[in-house]
This record gives sequence, C-alpha cells and structure tokens, in this order.
Amino acid sequence: MKSVRAALDAPTVPESMPLLEVRDLAMTFRGGVRAVDGVGFEVAQGETLGLVGESGCGKSTTGRMIVRLLEPTSGTVHLNGQDITHLSQRELLPLRGTMQMIFQDPFSSLNPRHTVNQIVAGPRRVLGRDQVIELLERVGLAPEHADRFPHEFSGGQAQRVGIARALANGPKLIVCDEAVSALDVSIRAQIINLLSDLQEERGLAYLFIAHDLSIVRHVCTRVAVMYLGRIVEIGPAASLYSDPAHPYTRALLSAVPVADPKIEAVRERIVLRGDPPSPAAPPPGCSFHPRCALAQRRCESEAPQLREVRGRKVACHYAETSA
Ligand code: SF4
Repeated sequence: MKSVRAALDAPTVPESMPLLEVRDLAMTFRGGVRAVDGVGFEVAQGETLGLVGESGCGKSTTGRMIVRLLEPTSGTVHLNGQDITHLSQRELLPLRGTMQMIFQDPFSSLNPRHTVNQIVAGPRRVLGRDQVIELLERVGLAPEHADRFPHEFSGGQAQRVGIARALANGPKLIVCDEAVSALDVSIRAQIINLLSDLQEERGLAYLFIAHDLSIVRHVCTRVAVMYLGRIVEIGPAASLYSDPAHPYTRALLSAVPVADPKIEAVRERIVLRGDPPSPAAPPPGCSFHPRCALAQRRCESEAPQLREVRGRKVACHYAETSA
C-alpha cells in the first residue's frame, strides 16, 4: 500500500508562478450588497497570507469564492496558473484535493452520521484505513478515534479531524477560515503549531482568515487587511506589524494585548468610532472616513487606491503622514 506521503504527492508548481492568484474578485449579494469589491492578491507555494478584518468585511466570502463554494460576481481565481473561476463542479473535482478549506466550527462541517474513518477517507475512499490512521496520528489523534463520531470529540479534537480530512488528497493550498478563533487559547496554540509543522513538512500554502491580528501574527509571511469588502493594506507581516501604514491597521493592532506588562500599561489604544457601515450602503470616498481620526475633506469624496508605501500597498491618501 502506498504511504500517506506518496498518496499526498501532488503536481508541483514552477517556483516563479504563484500558487494562487486572485484578481479583482467581487461579490454582490441579492439587494445589491457588495460584500467583496475588487480584491486581489497572490499566494506563493509554501507561504501563509493572513486575511484580517472585522466581522462582515468580506474576508470569509473571499475565502469561499477562492475554493468555489461561492460563485464570484466578477474577477478571476487562478490556481497553479489555471483559471478556475468558471469551472463547473465536475471540472473542479480533480482540483478539489489541491485546495481545501478548514472551517471555524468543525462540527458543522463534519457529517455527524459518519465515523472519522469515513470522513477522512472521503466519499470516494481515496485513503485506506491504514492511511487514515497514519494521518490521524500525524494530527495528534489516536488510532481508536477512527471509529468514533464527531459528537464524541472536543472542539480541538474535531478541528484535528477537519485538518486530517483536508490533508487526505494532498492539498497545496488550505483556506483556514477562522479555523482557530473559537478554540481556547492553549488549544489554539497547539493547532497553530500543528498547521506550521504540516506546512514545513508538506510545502503547504495557507490563506489564514482571522478577525484578529494577534491570531495570525506568528503564522503569516504576509498580511492583507480588509475593510468593507476591500483590501486597505497588504504587505510583509514583519513591517505591517512594526509600522502599520493604514489608520485601520493601526487601530486593529492597537487592540492586540502585549505580553510585557510595562508595555501593556502604556500601550496606545485607538478606539474606532461606531460600527463598520453596512456594505449595502457604503460611505462615499474612503469607506473608512466616518471612523477615521485622520480623515480630511478629500476622504469624503475620493476613494483611495492601493499604492506602494514603505514597502507595501496601502489604500489611504495620507498613508505617508500616518506613521
Ligand atoms: Fe482615513 Fe482618509 Fe486615509 Fe481613509 S483616506 S484612511 S479617511 S486618512
């Protein structure tokens, strides 16, 4: 029987070609609600891109369009250089193993009537029982867990089952949609460490969706910050955390607690005014202007485009002066 590693082998991608390329992706729901508005980014093989923003900013919708659980209104998604935006579900089948998704609530995504063995092996029984057990052990579960049902697990264990299932077909890209947000802090750290180890072993790329910059801090190579359906800042994680250029990124970062009590005591907190506006009626100009402490008259009428500022891309007219 093939080893799990052999079973997981998947076609490789030329190094220069991004594994995932998203261009001008948009989603307009019924009633004209523009949940995602012209989002674009690339993810390289083996890289982790964090996609961060408040609830309702369009980050999960973006993730679901990428794995084609939702049909985009416009824009394109390329995987391994292949345009997958308009492939039928049948045409997508061979690619389903290459890109997988891990969800916030593992219980809602695991069939309650199937054993873990059935869940991980998949409907087409891609893996034999020995391979399922090998995978379960790799994600920190025991062989006897193969015969149990999802309701017999804790949240952390169920998430491990979700990870094993995602690994079954040898993915190259995993979209982690708030995959650790609902877990206790200690379990969260264990799952993040597991995902990091798996990435190193298997050259996985992650799109790591989270509402909180602290969750993605230690796992991301680059970070994209979304606000009201658009990316407002995207760049290398190290510089974005140490020197955020967009006022919204600075506000999100200021909400992240610091471990050192002395720094925590004097930490500047930027409190955002009000709630995010409804995507059904976005403000004119810069959509962040009603909540931005730096807003000028120009911001009320002119929407800023993403442009290069201090080694990353930022959508703010005054990004140079906001440091
Ligand atoms: Fe604030 Fe204006 Fe920059 Fe928008 S463009 S983030 S309102 S300063």
